[in-house]
Amino acid sequence: MNLLSNHADPSQTNWDTLAQDAVAPFAHQIDRDARVPSQVISALREAGAFASGFPGPTAVSPSAELPPPLTAALNHGHMHQALGAASASVQGVLNVHHMGGSALAKWSSKAQKSHWIPRLRSGEICCAIAMTEPEVGSDISAVQTRATPVTGGYVLSGKKAWITCGDFADLFVLIASTEAGPTAFLLPKETKGLWIEPIEGMLGCRGYMMANLHLEAAFLPEDHLLGRPGFGASHVAVTGLEAGRLNLAWGCVGLAEAACKLALQRAKTRQQFGAAIGDFQLVQQLLARMTTDIHAARLLCQSASSARALRQMDAAKQATMAKYFASQMVGRVTHDAQQIFGAEGIGPNTPMALYYRDARIMEVIEGTTQVLESMIARLALSEVQVS
Ligand SMILES: Cc1cc2nc3c(=O)[nH]c(=O)nc-3n(C[C@H](O)[C@H](O)[C@H](O)COP(=O)(O)OP(=O)(O)OC[C@H]3O[C@@H](n4cnc5c(N)ncnc54)[C@H](O)[C@@H]3O)c2cc1C
Repeated sequence: MNLLSNHADPSQTNWDTLAQDAVAPFAHQIDRDARVPSQVISALREAGAFASGFPGPTAVSPSAELPPPLTAALNHGHMHQALGAASASVQGVLNVHHMGGSALAKWSSKAQKSHWIPRLRSGEICCAIAMTEPEVGSDISAVQTRATPVTGGYVLSGKKAWITCGDFADLFVLIASTEAGPTAFLLPKETKGLWIEPIEGMLGCRGYMMANLHLEAAFLPEDHLLGRPGFGASHVAVTGLEAGRLNLAWGCVGLAEAACKLALQRAKTRQQFGAAIGDFQLVQQLLARMTTDIHAARLLCQSASSARALRQMDAAKQATMAKYFASQMVGRVTHDAQQIFGAEGIGPNTPMALYYRDARIMEVIEGTTQVLESMIARLALSEVQVS
């Protein structure tokens, strides 16, 4: 297959249909095997999922009444929402591809763009982002992986930890420390001196295909530097994280919607004490909380996607708030949905148990809840002028 020409325009894909037909049937297999099967990856590729969100020749629907960037941003968000409902693991794989890809698209040279972006858009290669280390989590400005300048490039040594798609991606946007400060590099997986150690037994999102990356005197040529030396954490990683927070927030909305939909069906059909459990006011309270919580998160996502598309000043704050709220919301919703299912929600291989385990991941990645609280407060404080 010619991957460069055969993928669809993502704006023309019906993401709900694609996610339900080509992804959802594999959700339990993905959890069991801790791997996204190749037929799912192929379906995503052919639907244009890898291309979504990238700059490039993506047409927007001619009938769209919204301005083109807004249509594309909402379509992109909707894709992550639909995938989140079908499989949080698959949503995460595409999320890190779009995180690394958006950082690359923004900070790469002309030559780097023309070399990498068509291959990333087509899904011929998958991208991931490697910031975290065993001793460096929330504070990525303190990365210890060292990049030493040598003739013609850099030699990298160190370890990256907890990397989504570490055992799948072809290209990593990696942050390492240099004299100038944290600096971003493009690290192809076939680089000599890179050793990939898969991580097994994750609580949820097992299809993230996680790995630790070990770098032992790995040489990268000069043209694998991404952006300026010293810009790795403050610019390149921030671009990826801003995109990732919003994608993840949409994914959480989808996951919560899927759990809530099943809980509503269960509440209508499960009979106890001679009545449907949905007739009991205490169960109704759970359903009311879930429905309202999801709607609030969806509105935050829509607003944040609009702000991003229209380049509003507060776009980063809105994306942070959307992720902050949606990642906690999905925890509450999957907990309550599981409660409505009783034992059926806890038993082996049930959708509810998978939703619950997957949801637990969301408050840790792309900025923990506590770190995002500090960020939102700082951004809000910076908007206030005191005379
Ligand atoms: C499933 C999964 C996928 C991941 N994928 C990737 C990936 O693709 N790429 C990547 O680079 N990393 C990835 N990570 C790592 C993730 O980004 C980190 O786990 C996250 O940044 C938090 O770092 P940490 O786990 O070291 O926790 P720490 O930073 O050690 O934090 C521990 C606790 O302290 C709190 N804390 C820390 N600093 C503050 C502060 N300033 N104020 C208040 N509280 C604070 C945190 O909120 C948390 O509760 C992934 C992790 C998981 C679990």
